[in-house]
Amino acid sequence: MRATFLPFHMPSITEAEISEVVTALRDGWITSGPRVRLFEAAFAEVIGARYAVAVNSCTAALHLALEAFGVGPGDEVVIPAMTFAAAAEVVLHLGAKPVFCDVDPDTLLAGPEHIEPAVTSKTKVAIPTHHSGQPCDMDGIMDLARRRGFKVLDDAAHCFPVQFNGRFVGTHADATAFSFYSTKTLACGEGGMLTTADEAVAKRARLMTTHGMTVDGGARFKKEGTWFYDIAAPGFKCNLPELSAALGLAQLGRRDELLAARARIAARYTEAFRDHPIVRPPVVLTGRGHCWHLYVIQLETEQMSIERNRFIEELKLRNIGASVHFTPLYRHSFYRELLGDDPQKFPGCERAYRRIVSLPIWPGMTDGDVDDVIVAVWEIAR
Ligand SMILES: *Cc1c(COP(=O)(O)O)cnc(C)c1O
Repeated sequence: MRATFLPFHMPSITEAEISEVVTALRDGWITSGPRVRLFEAAFAEVIGARYAVAVNSCTAALHLALEAFGVGPGDEVVIPAMTFAAAAEVVLHLGAKPVFCDVDPDTLLAGPEHIEPAVTSKTKVAIPTHHSGQPCDMDGIMDLARRRGFKVLDDAAHCFPVQFNGRFVGTHADATAFSFYSTKTLACGEGGMLTTADEAVAKRARLMTTHGMTVDGGARFKKEGTWFYDIAAPGFKCNLPELSAALGLAQLGRRDELLAARARIAARYTEAFRDHPIVRPPVVLTGRGHCWHLYVIQLETEQMSIERNRFIEELKLRNIGASVHFTPLYRHSFYRELLGDDPQKFPGCERAYRRIVSLPIWPGMTDGDVDDVIVAVWEIAR
């Protein structure tokens, strides 16, 4: 057994990140400044997005996009239940109603066939999640959205850098929200990016990042700047700090190396579990990439004497961290009380929720770490 605990996740921080951050510190401007603009431009260029607005979280990017779409009271927003709470809470903050839809139990993704049954005349937006780092069927979802008259904001918190049908995630929908939270494939500590091809959405979101002020701080305090600003809207405060952008620029430069390290670990796991009688490796679809933010196995719990939670406890006893992504949103007390959804409405989520376990997958893991996980899984799932 391992002598030390293998955490579920550790960010990959090298001298590149450290020196970028130290340089930013020495420059003396630590809120949003030139590095944030560079980071936005570099990110947009990498994925081929027309506009990119840096913010301090993916949650803020989701909030700003919905606000820019004009979502408000009386509107409904369709969200796959197998996701994180961020998308649902920002819908509520705008006075609109989240409506949960089911997902495919094997891929954990919502496609048009899952979203459509939740669409009504009040549906203004759908927020599909690219679970684990594998893209949803963006062509099918965009077709449905155009046909039924709603917008698509994809939650790409797990999904950078990944292509779907020859273009990067972040260029298919009306807007896309990325996360640079410390566990994500590009880590800034905290951070996020909103990408869009719609100039009005980009302009509105940028205005709303800093109180609806017409001139940002970076410009105001320069010699050629002016103290004067106008407040054009009741904005938020969610701009990305310079130090986080410094981290982001360094991570962006390492994106291929980081992706290759994750893909290598995923391949090693999949090889080890390919013929396992009760451990199913993740289902990988053709025609789309995968950035392996998560490696989610599914347990054939009907054939096991222990349940999923016990399986995770057993991993912990063997010094291995694991997690569950996600508890379906309708199972959380708040959403249960607010919406009163019957879990039987979501057979895909219910089936997956009993079976899923997220194994550690992060670039700094050694082959020995990966082997420890493999041995432990084989030992427990006998
Ligand atoms: C992490 C995550 C978010 C939130 O990201 P933050 O940057 O922490 O706001 C949103 N959606 C999903 C699916 C996530 O995993």
